[in-house]
Amino acid sequence: MKLHEHQSKEIFARYNIPTPRGRVAYDAETARDIAKQLNAPVVVKAQVLVGGRGKAGGVKLAKTPDEAEQYAKNILGMEIKGLPVRKVLIDPAVPNKAEIYLGIVVDRNQDAPVMMASSAGGVEIEVVAHETPEKIKRQTIDPVLGLQAFQARALGYDIGLDKKLVPEFAKIALALYRVFVETDASLVEINPLFISTQDTLVAADGKLVIDDSALDRHPNFEALRDLDEENDAEREARMAGLSFVKLDGNIGCMVNGAGLAMATMDVIKFYGGEPANFLDIGGGAKSDKVAAALRIILADPNVKAILLNIFGGITRGDEVARGIVEALSQVKTDVPMVARIVGTNAEEGRQILASANMQTATSLEQGARMAVEIAKSRS
Ligand code: GDP
Ligand code: MN
Repeated sequence: MKLHEHQSKEIFARYNIPTPRGRVAYDAETARDIAKQLNAPVVVKAQVLVGGRGKAGGVKLAKTPDEAEQYAKNILGMEIKGLPVRKVLIDPAVPNKAEIYLGIVVDRNQDAPVMMASSAGGVEIEVVAHETPEKIKRQTIDPVLGLQAFQARALGYDIGLDKKLVPEFAKIALALYRVFVETDASLVEINPLFISTQDTLVAADGKLVIDDSALDRHPNFEALRDLDEENDAEREARMAGLSFVKLDGNIGCMVNGAGLAMATMDVIKFYGGEPANFLDIGGGAKSDKVAAALRIILADPNVKAILLNIFGGITRGDEVARGIVEALSQVKTDVPMVARIVGTNAEEGRQILASANMQTATSLEQGARMAVEIAKSRS
């Protein structure tokens, strides 16, 4: 789950990372009021969950409340990389002389978090990595010991920081590591970390991505979720406890098990079809979960055929079949479905589906071919 800049910076502030304390506005008049209260030049910043807002015109420096109102009005009407801007952050502007990058990611090759810093801040780190990789300095963090103060200082020196700024930099780096660990983040980033004209360090931007698998440990983060950034299908899948990824093809897939779902997609492609989604209904899926899965697949207008591939183990074939029949009574559709069920109670499952006028297949190859043929004839 990605957090917005203002949410990330609120968390940073709790860890004593210096950051401008602005406020969020959903309309231009409020933006004006906030600018007035802050009584200073402000930056008006689009709050959308993508990078490169600056380049897209979503970050503007306003000298007066009137200007702030005008910029907020423009930015609130914008779309950045396809996402509508619904709120802006009004931050007191920080006069600065340099921009630094500071971030932590999990490095899977090293099985450890890595802290990265660069004197080339303010630009997307991927661009720096591509064009001037020597400007990125790294410290691998021992997950047991945590980030050590000497490592944080070494990074400060490596990026050429003035010696008198290094202690403050190290303090921020250590605090950022605590944020990373305590929020179960998979990524945390300050880009840019300003060197202000007063020679202080200020986190001007913030990004925090929480590991979805850890959200159970942070029930309070649920309130921070931006439902606007999630499409309806993804939201319903998450609430029903299904793993769902939308794809561009026209054959809907409903499968129990992630590996089997991958194999099903491969076989569909092998026979010349294109899967419309990845969907794992999980083990032991009961009828309500299956019904939700079917609704999610059918909500995609591109879907011309559905292939159900069920391996009955913990999930009994008849249970899934009943779920499908129940779902079909809720969601009316003329999309043809092919079901391949093997394993526990497969025969009962097939009978239930056959009596609901569904085509059944005895092998995955056969099922995939049937689905591909149907999808082709209907598009
Ligand atoms: P991003 O483009 O989505 O990463 O948005 P950022 O928050 O990083 O802002 C982009 C750029 O706007 C920064 O790199 C700065 O150059 C500039 N900027 C942001 N906040 C301030 C500020 O308070 N003062 C000044 N002078 N520039 C700012
Ligand atoms: Mn940034």
